[in-house]
Amino acid sequence: MVITYTAIFGLLIGSFLTVVVDRVPRGASVVAPGSACGGCGLELGPRDLVPVLSWLFLRGKCRRCKASIGIEPVVLELSTSALFVAFAIKFDLSWELGAFAALGAGLIALSWIDLHTKRLPREITYVTAALGVPLLCIAALVRHEPRRMLMMLLGAAIALGFMALVYALSKGGMGDGDVRLSPLLGAYLGWINPGLVAVGLFLGFLLGAVVGVLLIAFGSAGRKTAVPFGPFLAIGTIAAIWLGQPAVDMVLHR
Ligand SMILES: [Zn+2]
Repeated sequence: MVITYTAIFGLLIGSFLTVVVDRVPRGASVVAPGSACGGCGLELGPRDLVPVLSWLFLRGKCRRCKASIGIEPVVLELSTSALFVAFAIKFDLSWELGAFAALGAGLIALSWIDLHTKRLPREITYVTAALGVPLLCIAALVRHEPRRMLMMLLGAAIALGFMALVYALSKGGMGDGDVRLSPLLGAYLGWINPGLVAVGLFLGFLLGAVVGVLLIAFGSAGRKTAVPFGPFLAIGTIAAIWLGQPAVDMVLHR
C-alpha cells in the first residue's frame, strides 16, 4: 500500500517538476500562472494535467492547437515515481522516506536543468535542503538516534571540504553550483553513514570521468567543453544510498 501511494505521489511531484525545470531557470514563479500550452496559450485544466494518462490520451499534443507537448513530462513523472518507489522499498513509511523523497525530487530537477542549461539553480538546492534537513533531524529523533544529526553535519563538512578543494584545483573546471550542492549530498549520505560520502563522491567522479572520456572519444565534446557535473554527483549519491554500505564494508574488512 505504501508503495502504491508513493508511486502516485511520485507521479504528481514529477508533474510539478515539469513546471519547476521549465520556470526556475527563467526566474519565473512555479505557482502562478497555471500551466498553459506553449503554442496557443490554452490554460490547462485538471483533465490535461493527470500524470502520464493525459499525455497518453492526448498523444503528447495540445488539446486545441495540437502543438507537441514533448516527452519531458512523462519522463520526469515516471522517473520521479520510480525513484520514490525505490526509497519506499528501502525506508518503508517513515520520516526518512519523506526526507529522501525530497532529495530525489530536488536531484531530478537539478540534473534535468544542468543537462539543458549547464546550471544548478541555487534556489532548488536551498529548497531541497530546507525540506530535507529538518526531515532528517526528525527521523533521527524519532529513531532515538540523535547522533545521526552529528553524522549529517560531518558528512556535509567532508563533502564541502573535498568539493571546495577540487573547485580550487580545477580553476573553473568545476562549477560553483556543484560545490554549493555538495554539503547537502554529504548531509544525506552522512546521516546514513559518513563513510558513504566518500563512496558517493567517488562514484560521481568515476561516472563523470567515464562519460567525459567517451564524449571526447566520440567527438561530441572537446576538452574545453564543460560537461554538466550535477547529474553525476546526483547519480553517485543515489547509488551510494544502496551500494555505499557494501562498498565501505569491503574496503574496511579486506
Ligand atoms: Zn495549444
